[in-house]
Amino acid sequence: MQPPLQQHLPEWCWELLGPSVGFTSACNHFLCGGAQAATEPDADRRGYAVWVSEIMLQQTQVATVIDYYNRWMQKWPTLQALAQASLEEVNELWAGLGYYSRGKRLQEAARKVVSELGGHMPRTAEALQKLLPGVGRYTAGAIASISYGQATGVVDGNVIRVLCRLRCIGADSSSPAVMDRLWDMANALVDKSRPGDFNQALMELGATVCVPKAPLCGECPVKQHCRARCRVEKELAFASQKLFGKPAPVPDVEDCGVGDCPLCPPATEPWDSSLGVTNFPRKAAKKQPRAMRTATCVLERRGCRGGPEYLIVQRPSSGLLAGLWEFPSLPLAQDLQEEKEREVLADHLQAWMGQPVAAKGLRFIGEVIHIFSHIHQTYVVYSLPLDGDVTLDPASPSRWVTEEEFHASAVSTAMKKVLKAHKKQHRNETSPGKGFKRKRGAKPQGAGSTCPGTQLSLHAFLRAPTAP
Ligand code: SF4
Ligand SMILES: [Zn+2]
Repeated sequence: MQPPLQQHLPEWCWELLGPSVGFTSACNHFLCGGAQAATEPDADRRGYAVWVSEIMLQQTQVATVIDYYNRWMQKWPTLQALAQASLEEVNELWAGLGYYSRGKRLQEAARKVVSELGGHMPRTAEALQKLLPGVGRYTAGAIASISYGQATGVVDGNVIRVLCRLRCIGADSSSPAVMDRLWDMANALVDKSRPGDFNQALMELGATVCVPKAPLCGECPVKQHCRARCRVEKELAFASQKLFGKPAPVPDVEDCGVGDCPLCPPATEPWDSSLGVTNFPRKAAKKQPRAMRTATCVLERRGCRGGPEYLIVQRPSSGLLAGLWEFPSLPLAQDLQEEKEREVLADHLQAWMGQPVAAKGLRFIGEVIHIFSHIHQTYVVYSLPLDGDVTLDPASPSRWVTEEEFHASAVSTAMKKVLKAHKKQHRNETSPGKGFKRKRGAKPQGAGSTCPGTQLSLHAFLRAPTAP
């Protein structure tokens, strides 16, 4: 890697913390953990609070996290309390936040702190990252700077965007070489006396002002340092002079001028005037998620209080959605004929119920799509109403639940969508005039939504509206 080039070098962005801007006071990225970190006298609790909020905030909106965070801290106010929790309890509380392995790892790491580190959080970013499972460079930097005042930077999606725009970094921002450079910049920029405030302000700037599609450059406290904006302004001035027929000097809008610069936009994708500052950052196109089909069956019986009850079974304790509960489900080979699909599902159900299940008795409900981080999952949903009693295999983790109990259990958002599709179908069948039409491939309403917080692909990014 070449040494950093003058054009891309960072400079102090002290305006971020300047009294005239007061950016940190408007900061809500750390509403939860940050607020607690500021007032909590116990250093271990301080670190724990930021840690929990940081893990929850990854890929999830602040508004969603607050309630989860409060319930979590109420239930497990200390690392010691969390270390004693069961995976089942952790999954139940985490249900709906997605990325279930994060809750699991948080709890495993708490156990490690208690059993191997004498109950004390490591105090530096390096030690946090090295010693705590599930704590990456970003989380370690956030905990160390916010809770322990270590002058260390952080780089998350927001910071990547801000720095790439400030310093006109147009090379693929997901490449290790560019990421290394961004970390160097974040570490060089961080305010040594108030590192936690500075990091939060930088992230908040990305979340509220330097947003992905239409950044509010006019209101930006660091606009005078921003090279992307400078370039846009020069181009605009040049265009207007040309419009009025004034002789204009050729604008100084080239890239940093160094051939093969590792930080400039690649020659094949040069600066695009129509995109303005949103030329940055650039990312290589995302890998397509793997497509999977899974048959799932809502087994329903009449409960003792007259309402319906559903059979849920527990997933293995490792792998995707480890330890969560779901309707009996079975991954399907791609392109399986529908008849065969029913047969394999019926066999699978028989294993849970200990009695034969007729494939013909399975009613097709529809398909529910759920996007996990790396999997495009299609649930082919069937239902089966049961009359007689079923003796469940006591050795297998399964239970009957009411709808209320279902929602309180550690079930994934995808399974909630499945139940919703089933109930909608049921309502349609029972309301007059709405006959049940069997249509394979039909997606019930509400299906097919994607995860929040998904990054733009390069293609979508390049089509983003013109920046000011
Ligand atoms: S001036 Fe615009 S592009 Fe530059 S950092 Fe501020 S909001 Fe982002
Ligand atoms: Zn360059």
